[in-house]
Amino acid sequence: MTQIGSRISESGGSNDSIPNTSSPNEVEVDTSNKRKNMKPRATCWKHFDKFTDKSGAKKAKCKYCEKPYAASTSTNGTSAMNNHMRKCLKFPRDTVDKAQSRRALAKMIIVDKLPFSFVEKEGFKNFMRVTVPQFHIPSRRTVTRDCYEVYLEERQLLKKVFKEARPRGGDMATCITNCLLEWGLDNVFTITVDNASFNDVTVKEMSK
Ligand SMILES: [Zn+2]
Repeated sequence: MTQIGSRISESGGSNDSIPNTSSPNEVEVDTSNKRKNMKPRATCWKHFDKFTDKSGAKKAKCKYCEKPYAASTSTNGTSAMNNHMRKCLKFPRDTVDKAQSRRALAKMIIVDKLPFSFVEKEGFKNFMRVTVPQFHIPSRRTVTRDCYEVYLEERQLLKKVFKEARPRGGDMATCITNCLLEWGLDNVFTITVDNASFNDVTVKEMSK
């Protein structure tokens, strides 16, 4: 017990005074090995459980599909586990749709007028790691392509809207007249239009 006590104080002053939920587990797990006393802090630990296999090797298994990974904190990083979170078929991703997320990200870049390089900013990357670790943040080149795709799609949609909602001259005349009257402009001499056929009807109607 004295060994454990001394190890806790070695690992960092804060552990002595501030109770940390991960500390008791960590001490328990680590009693077999004095040197490995790093805290499992990475986000992936929310989705993995530590265990020791029959041979005594330290492992971590996915909480959802139970796939085991070597998890000796001194030799194994967390990248394998991070990768697994993206690929795990049982990972609870009901709220995270990859395509929709990518599109929403692109729309955010457009709507908020952000630089494409925003996706490579440290703060944003960290925020995403903490909140949605399974979302693979695209590079700025990819997000540029995504934005262009959103633009093309939206343009197509607008074209369709304008095509289907081709105004008729009569409606147009009423609409413009109402606008002018609303603004108190009842003395209009010229109206500039393009040469679409319904504009002839519009002008004729309005001149009545
Ligand atoms: Zn899994």
